[in-house]
Amino acid sequence: GNKQATTLILFGATGDLAKRKLYPALYRLYKKQNHFAVIGVARRDISHDDFRAIIQESLENYTHRDDDIQDFVQKFFYYALDVKETEGYTGLKSLCDHVDSEFGLKENRMFYLSLAPEFFAPVTLNLQASGLTDNSGWKKLVIEKPFGRDLKSANELNEAIHNVFKEDEIYRIDHYLGKEMVQNIQVIRFANPIFESIWNNRYISNVQITSSETLGVGERASYYDHTGALMDMVQNHMLQMVALTAMEPPSRFETEDIRDEKVKVLRSVRQITTDDIAGHIIKGQYTRGTMPNGNVVKGYREEDNIKEKSMTETFVAAKLFIDNFRWAGVPFYIRTGKRMTVKSTEIVIQFKDAPQNPYFNNFNDIQPNLLVIHVQPDEGLSLKLNAKKFSSSGDTMPITMEFSNSDLTGADAYERLIQDCLNGDSTNFTRWDEVALSWEFVDSITKAWNEKNIPLDRYESGSMGPASAYELLDKDGLHWWPLT
Ligand code: NAD
Repeated sequence: GNKQATTLILFGATGDLAKRKLYPALYRLYKKQNHFAVIGVARRDISHDDFRAIIQESLENYTHRDDDIQDFVQKFFYYALDVKETEGYTGLKSLCDHVDSEFGLKENRMFYLSLAPEFFAPVTLNLQASGLTDNSGWKKLVIEKPFGRDLKSANELNEAIHNVFKEDEIYRIDHYLGKEMVQNIQVIRFANPIFESIWNNRYISNVQITSSETLGVGERASYYDHTGALMDMVQNHMLQMVALTAMEPPSRFETEDIRDEKVKVLRSVRQITTDDIAGHIIKGQYTRGTMPNGNVVKGYREEDNIKEKSMTETFVAAKLFIDNFRWAGVPFYIRTGKRMTVKSTEIVIQFKDAPQNPYFNNFNDIQPNLLVIHVQPDEGLSLKLNAKKFSSSGDTMPITMEFSNSDLTGADAYERLIQDCLNGDSTNFTRWDEVALSWEFVDSITKAWNEKNIPLDRYESGSMGPASAYELLDKDGLHWWPLT
């Protein structure tokens, strides 16, 4: 890659995401000869050395560390600031100028906002007011999710940051786009003619995309209770996986061409109206139950910082249609939730059945062909086929061909995404029109939920969601394939 010198100004430097994901990722990038220094910004009043101790602790907890750790942490500086207070940014600019000249960073600046979303717009405006964005090098804004709460607020946020940064300077993070197997979808599809030639409504029966968690709401309770699974997972990660699975081959494998094709999919996703919401979207909430490891866990409404009568959904299942030539008639079922049986993200492509023919009558156990893309925790690909049962006449049995990526030393999502950003490659970040179309789709669901008073279906912790999520497929003569 291109190892451009950069000052990374990280807002929210004492937060959970920074400690769990960003510091380990930065350490690995440093070991790959990337040339950067970091200024951590947060409210707490601590010294550079206190901050460096936080970095060391993060590396000890979340990654391997070598002898070079002292060199690494010497590149970290800290600046205490309440990000809403404009005056404080002057001192940040001085520190930034100082770090820049000390390490020869050419006034290239990456502003990474790992903050609560209400700060995204004010920080951007304060960066401009303080002159931090009048630098002679390049500038980039990396922004965590969620990008707005609906189309209107996303639009306002977008306008605010566009006053300061151009679209190609904005890197909206959807960390699923940094995952190995999500990035692999395009290769699996477009580099393999045996798949691409049948990747359409003539050969595919349905697509099932699941992202399940075993964790409950945990420490994010107060955030989550006014967010829910639709906004937290469907608007971003789930729709991105739908778009990558369904998109046309781009004319060139260049950033904007790829994003253009994803946008076309999002434009073709049929809006769910108030009239057909009941048959298409299930919302659920977990109750007390027993997890597969034997732990009995609280129901959502019993969790700390959750309202006793909370109607927030912790589970969503939906049936989507993509109204274009390739996908007409093929349902895309998606489901995501907390406190489910397993932690897993998978994309299952179910192919149509072999033609029914009396001649094949004694083939008694034919299963549909499935191509499964395992996104997490295991990374890999499996293909389910039918074969003859050994030493029997006429009987068949399902067999599975599997590829599993067991190279756990590979980069993680945040490492790839920060590297891309350093390199100026925004392919795996969401462009504004993708965000806007996703919100439009999600807003129509929220509106329909409000108008129709759709029931919140309870599901026991440790299960795969409410019965209604099974019925969603059952009435189409289908079922969810078990996760592996
Ligand atoms: P957090 O609450 O753990 O940390 C927030 C950080 O912001 C802290 O460093 C805090 O000091 C700082 N902060 C808060 N108010 C401030 C103020 N007024 N002035 C200066 N600093 C202030 O949050 P987090 O979990 O690290 O999440 C950060 C962002 O990343 C959020 O947008 C979140 O939605 C997103 N995100 C988090 C995760 C995750 O796993 N934690 C995953 C995906 C996205």
